[in-house]
Amino acid sequence: MNNNYDFIVIGGGILGMSTAWQLQQAYPGQSVLVIEKERGPAQHQTGHNSGVIHAGVYYKPGSLKARFCREGNAATRAFCDEYGIKYDNCGKLLVATNEAEYRRMQALVSRCEENGIEVEVLSETQLKKREPNIRGVGAIFVPSTGIVSFTEITVQMGKLVQAAGGTLKFATEVTAIDERADGVEVNTSGGTFRGRYLVACAGLMADRVVRLLGLEPSFRILPFRGEYFLLPPEHNRIVNHLIYPIPDPDLPFLGVHLTRMIDGTVTVGPNAVLAFKREGYRKTDISLRDSLEMLCYSGLRRVLLKNFRASLAEFRNSLSKRGYLRLVQKYCPQLRVEDLTPYPAGIRAQAVTPDGALVDDFLFVSTRRALVVCNAPSPAATSAIPIGAHIVTQLKGLVEKV
Ligand SMILES: Cc1cc2nc3c(=O)[nH]c(=O)nc-3n(C[C@H](O)[C@H](O)[C@H](O)COP(=O)(O)OP(=O)(O)OC[C@H]3O[C@@H](n4cnc5c(N)ncnc54)[C@H](O)[C@@H]3O)c2cc1C
Repeated sequence: MNNNYDFIVIGGGILGMSTAWQLQQAYPGQSVLVIEKERGPAQHQTGHNSGVIHAGVYYKPGSLKARFCREGNAATRAFCDEYGIKYDNCGKLLVATNEAEYRRMQALVSRCEENGIEVEVLSETQLKKREPNIRGVGAIFVPSTGIVSFTEITVQMGKLVQAAGGTLKFATEVTAIDERADGVEVNTSGGTFRGRYLVACAGLMADRVVRLLGLEPSFRILPFRGEYFLLPPEHNRIVNHLIYPIPDPDLPFLGVHLTRMIDGTVTVGPNAVLAFKREGYRKTDISLRDSLEMLCYSGLRRVLLKNFRASLAEFRNSLSKRGYLRLVQKYCPQLRVEDLTPYPAGIRAQAVTPDGALVDDFLFVSTRRALVVCNAPSPAATSAIPIGAHIVTQLKGLVEKV
């Protein structure tokens, strides 16, 4: 068996597959190998998310998130059109439920303008007309937000990789990496592979891959579980759009939303609770290694102290269904506790620096022969195509330097 490849990509989530697919387009005839430790693609963040094609409302103008999300929104739809993947341009409403939120909502309108996102401001009456079951004093309508299955997109990208001669190796875990002057040797549970270049899109394991490369990461990945509930089928038409609260500007990813899913169901969530296992989806999942590493990390203590009230509230509402319900009843008062039925959680990979700062933007680290995606939280699924293109461009830089 020939174990030599031009490019090796670690990770069969949406970023790994997008990168592998675009590497093959950029370097036709060169060999690409994707190595994934699970039995199939999209088993972690890519397969456990809200399925929202984000428009890019919250992101800092000029950031990679703002740019890649805007570009990714269009690129995701174009990809779905080309390969017959179902999506829905249902649009999103950011609903203000009181005067303070209304003022914050106006700041978000300015941010949308800076980010070049088309929005419409709705009065209370206009909101009621669009969403009879939603209560608020006003809302922002974002027409370019949509829904899709990112798993389906990832599976399709994998098929394209294979169709172009690429290899996907599942159930194969990368355990060691040796970077040399002329390439990279990758040891796995299924043998040793050599590549001229390596890309790692390892999500929740990003910092560990940096270590495997012999570097000390300037951050750690902290896992934050996002818990959802599913509404019963009689509520499948409770909303016409995605319904989001007006977020705290410092923690824009917090705030449970009502999400129409592409399969026709409606979910509530996700919250954000520190998890004691990186890839543990149940509240009771604990990994000694993951927990000890976290507890010994100064960034964890500092991030919890800095966000003490928010962390406590998220934790409390994770334990109390009624507390969780109150968050959504603020804008959808008719929901009852019995409407919240179980639904699988997701785990976010969030890079945190030793001073307790959540790394806000997408982050990449490169060496002579390798590039690692270090921070790719939401909206990275929406942004997967431009992120893959960015990685290919960065690699071209490495190829030219060698
Ligand atoms: C609750 C939640 C809701 C979200 N909602 C949205 C949303 O609505 N819209 C949006 O755009 N984004 C959303 N996101 C973010 C989005 O899902 C992620 O940013 C995106 O899926 C990241 O893709 P990835 O390929 O980097 O990571 P992953 O999908 O996690 O893939 C990484 C892969 O690397 C593999 N791997 C790791 N280490 C190794 C190893 N040593 N050897 C082999 N394989 C390895 C893992 O098994 C995994 O399959 C959400 C995320 C969460 C958790």
